Amino acid sequence: MQVYHNFIDGRFVPDNGEFISVINPATKEVISQVATASLEQTKEAIMAAKKAQKSWEALPAIARANHLRELANLIRANAKHLTDVLMAEQGKVRALAQIEINFTADYIDYTAEWARRYEGEIIQSDRPNENIYLYRTAIGVVGGILPWNFPFFLIARKLAPALLTGNTIVIKPSSQTPNNAFEFAKLVEKSSLPNGVFNLVAGSGAIVGNELSSNENIGIVSLTGSVDAGVKVMQAAAKNIIKVSLELGGKAPAIVCKDADIDLAVRAIKASRICNNGQVCNCAERAYVHKDVYDEFVDKFVKEMSKVTFGNTLKGDFDMGPLVNADGVANAKAMLERAVSAGGVVECGGKVTDDSGFYFPATVVTGVKHSDEIMQKEIFAPILPIAKFETLDEAIDMANDCEYGLTSSIYTQNLDIAMRASKEIKFGETYINRENFEAMQGFHAGFRKSGIGGADGKHGLYEYLATHVVYLQYNTNKQ
Ligand code: NAD
Repeated sequence: MQVYHNFIDGRFVPDNGEFISVINPATKEVISQVATASLEQTKEAIMAAKKAQKSWEALPAIARANHLRELANLIRANAKHLTDVLMAEQGKVRALAQIEINFTADYIDYTAEWARRYEGEIIQSDRPNENIYLYRTAIGVVGGILPWNFPFFLIARKLAPALLTGNTIVIKPSSQTPNNAFEFAKLVEKSSLPNGVFNLVAGSGAIVGNELSSNENIGIVSLTGSVDAGVKVMQAAAKNIIKVSLELGGKAPAIVCKDADIDLAVRAIKASRICNNGQVCNCAERAYVHKDVYDEFVDKFVKEMSKVTFGNTLKGDFDMGPLVNADGVANAKAMLERAVSAGGVVECGGKVTDDSGFYFPATVVTGVKHSDEIMQKEIFAPILPIAKFETLDEAIDMANDCEYGLTSSIYTQNLDIAMRASKEIKFGETYINRENFEAMQGFHAGFRKSGIGGADGKHGLYEYLATHVVYLQYNTNKQ
């Protein structure tokens, strides 16, 4: 069985006898053992990153970019192996796993392009003979804490902007899906990246994650995960008043207007709802459909969802794989049961028919009210609850009335409705006539409890930069 060790200061370090057993969710078999980093090792990783940071930042940005490009090329050269590793621990379908690996390499290359583009400013002074320079400078050591649903891509979403701007990083993968991160660390070991610039420590949120949020040598902590973890990271970071970047849960509403192209809406919302087996922060989690097209939409949607296949994606070509673990299945079942008790009607799916892995079928629930738990809380399983609306005002109010504010979508062929929705829907992202995914040059950020700060593009890069303003007074008399 594959055994992985923590990667600190450019080398894989000895274990201390404690391991995480990683399970293939499609079969429930243990597929690897990952050494848990002790608190001491976590501190060592942070110190290694601190030690490496000064000389890393001293390199010209283009030299740092060249290191990133080398990593992107190593990912491409090992894409097949990385895809298999990712599928085995996370249960993705092959096509999505391939997209994740290739997109990660492209994302790193895209970020490298910013080397010659990010800039400071020269500011007008109120005094004679003075220049005011605003430098954009690295923050220092980044703590990066990852979830399990896009674990490989999220390494790059934190590492690439952090390293390009002169920071160094310590990453903690999710204990559900650490293998791909350790395979990435093997590529880093082969590369010319200086020791200590990238470090990887596995372990619990309470110990390793907490240290990455509260250690006095961390300059910014960037978490992608649940709201609960976000609250804890923010509290821990408050001790040292450091910057936090939190990308948290979502409950994306999809609004289907009466003038919508219904077939397009059905196709897009279904693809979004079953993507990554229903476990994406920005996939459609609730639908509001205009009363005039409600029956047509539900009829077509249920037909499509009834055809969705699932199984072990390493063994066959399925639409979905399993949920990530037993808790995922238990949560989905319990939430559905409570929705039914509140008056919901299961139109298809809903029953676990195969427990050889953590499978849950594509499910549609109607008869739900906007205030029901299933319309308000993140499900993270392929279940779509559908409610009816009469006016656009009502639909927009219901969409906005939610503690999450990450992604939203609206289906309409009316330009006035599209323009109004793009102003009045209060979410970090709104898709019109399509669903996720977001672009690497966009900005992925959430309103309300979906997070603070964000990732991607220019604004995501600037998350990892501090400003330093220098006032230079010069003398004109003595020349
Ligand atoms: P999670 O919150 O359980 O875990 C995420 C990470 O936080 C893990 O590495 C975990 O060990 C760590 N953690 C837990 N407690 C911690 C603590 N006290 N201090 C520091 N770290 C701690 O989330 P998950 O189940 O891995 O992922 C699913 C969640 O992530 C969903 O809510 C999903 O919407 C969200 N997500 C958001 C985005 C986004 O871009 N907004 C992207 C992917 C996933």
